[in-house]
Amino acid sequence: MILNLNDRQFSRLWLGLTGSTFILFFIVATWQFSHTLSGGAQGKIIGQGVQVLKEPSQELSLEDIRQLPQQQWQNHSSTWLSFGISATPYWFRFELPYASQERILEVDYALTDELDVWLFDNKRLIAHYQTGDQKPFAERPINSVNFLFPIPPNANPVEVIIRADNQGAIRLPTKLWQSHEFISFKAEKSWLLGIFFGFIVAILISHLFMFVTTGNIGFFTYCGYLLFVLLTLITILGIGYKYLWPESVWWQKHASMVFANLALVFGVLFSRELLQVKTYRPRLDKGLKGLVILFLVSVLVSFWLPYPWVLQIFILLMITAVTTILITGISFWLKTPLPATRLYTMGWFIMLFCALLALADNMALIETSFRSLHLLMLGVTLEVILLSLSLAMSYRQKLLEVTQAKHRAMRLEQQRLAAEKQAHEALEYKVEERTLELEVALRELSEKNRELEEYTTKDALTGIRNRRHFDKKYLAEVRRSRRQRFPLSIVMVDIDHFKSVNDKHGHRVGDECLKQVAQMLARALNRPGDEVCRYGGEEFAMVLPDTDLDGARQLLESVRQSIAETPFKVQQDTLAMTISAGVSCAVCELNQPDEQLLEWADQALYRAKQNGRNRVEVHESNLQESQSV
Ligand code: GH3
Ligand code: MG
Ligand code: MG
Repeated sequence: MILNLNDRQFSRLWLGLTGSTFILFFIVATWQFSHTLSGGAQGKIIGQGVQVLKEPSQELSLEDIRQLPQQQWQNHSSTWLSFGISATPYWFRFELPYASQERILEVDYALTDELDVWLFDNKRLIAHYQTGDQKPFAERPINSVNFLFPIPPNANPVEVIIRADNQGAIRLPTKLWQSHEFISFKAEKSWLLGIFFGFIVAILISHLFMFVTTGNIGFFTYCGYLLFVLLTLITILGIGYKYLWPESVWWQKHASMVFANLALVFGVLFSRELLQVKTYRPRLDKGLKGLVILFLVSVLVSFWLPYPWVLQIFILLMITAVTTILITGISFWLKTPLPATRLYTMGWFIMLFCALLALADNMALIETSFRSLHLLMLGVTLEVILLSLSLAMSYRQKLLEVTQAKHRAMRLEQQRLAAEKQAHEALEYKVEERTLELEVALRELSEKNRELEEYTTKDALTGIRNRRHFDKKYLAEVRRSRRQRFPLSIVMVDIDHFKSVNDKHGHRVGDECLKQVAQMLARALNRPGDEVCRYGGEEFAMVLPDTDLDGARQLLESVRQSIAETPFKVQQDTLAMTISAGVSCAVCELNQPDEQLLEWADQALYRAKQNGRNRVEVHESNLQESQSV
């Protein structure tokens, strides 16, 4: 399960981790300091004054050694017995003063292959111990991670002869202890080691937890590195042989090299991850991958090649790897001065320094006042703290970058949406604007159409509707009458003897009279549906919807009368005018032709003219109806 830790949660986790680390470190440092001050159990170092002999190429037995002249032996002058890699075994000879209590001789280098110890009292053999890490663990005189030899109480001084054979370095960090002193020292040392390993294991577990929660591969590679550093140290200290593989001499021979190589495999992988070498330096990344492969090959060949070769290959590879890692770190530091890179580089630098110092001490190149193992442990501790800090920082940086990228993406998305909305609104506004313009244009157009219609349906002389309009109106009202079953009245009006008006007074006066008659006819109509049109010449036609015969006749009778009584004043003349009208009325039937009513009105008009003019006549069919009613 991958949890998404937020910034605050991550900071808390990180603080807890580093805080507990520093507290642990502080406890250990305080203990070390107080122990030195209080002059706790130290043991007597055996080194200076010991007689040393490097065995020549031919093998020698104990007897041969004892018979060698004194000059062949060399007096050792430095504190610790350390001689680097040697092809042949070393012999040591020294004398211990007599003691009434049991003592313990400690050789604190767990990787020595073969270690033979003989004890003599005046040439008489008291004890012979045969051990080494190439002998089964069970054969050790005292069950311990390093080599311990009991020196029994003796009335005389005890002569000690030791033969040490190792395919690695010949090292004999030897101390003589009073038994009870040794027990108390041992307890304190175990406690210190316990804290050290506890610290590493705690960091390992917490980073494993970080890996499980975050899924970040950097944490995983760091765990791998820690695990194999831990296993390497356990092997060097002999703890692995005592507790994990006491039966396997074969594995004890190879374990340290396998673990050390794998530690560096993960160290390189971790560096790749932390510095993101693949992204920033792809060529260097290839080099690092090559190194990983070389380390893996070195693991494989370590099972076949002689140990000194394997050790030398490892040292060469280790120096290459650590310097490459260091140079990478420094170049990244210069390029991107992130705190994580700085801590990372410092961590590796300390580790390299301590490892090289320990190695030099191990190979007897230099003599340090520290034990090389303690140096290594100190280096590992500091490195572990610094790398863990740098890892946490780099992870935090990555997390920040991811969050920032997310925010950036969100902002862009918001901007995009806003722009889209704006564009949409602008478009909508434009469409609305255009629609409005179109509506206005349409309204103007229909206005113009109406004006045009009015213009084309208006009679220029009289100002009332013309024949064209009448035809439309007539047809529409006929149909409406058919549909709605109401009576429709049609009237034809003709001015009487108009020709003579023209003849007597001229056309201009005639025109004026025509106009006045038209206006009187128009004024006589009251209903909005009624209409009078100039039908042609001095003839007019009326459409009177929903009007029965009586209504129409009365209307016409009244207008006829008013025209007949009206004196028409035109210019200086006063004229009398009369009109004749023919009325027809019907509820239009489907089988009737459209023109029927008009024809009937015309016929009625004709009869009005026939019957003496200045009168209103109705069509015969209507006449019959009204009579029958
Ligand atoms: P009646 O209808 O009573 O039989 O006699 P009328 O003189 O009115 O007969 P007719 O229909 O033959 O004459 C119509 C005359 O109306 C002919 C023409 O001189 C006159 N007229 C027709 N249109 C106009 C016009 O627009 N202006 C003028 N001034 N006269 C017109
Ligand atoms: Mg006429
Ligand atoms: Mg006429």
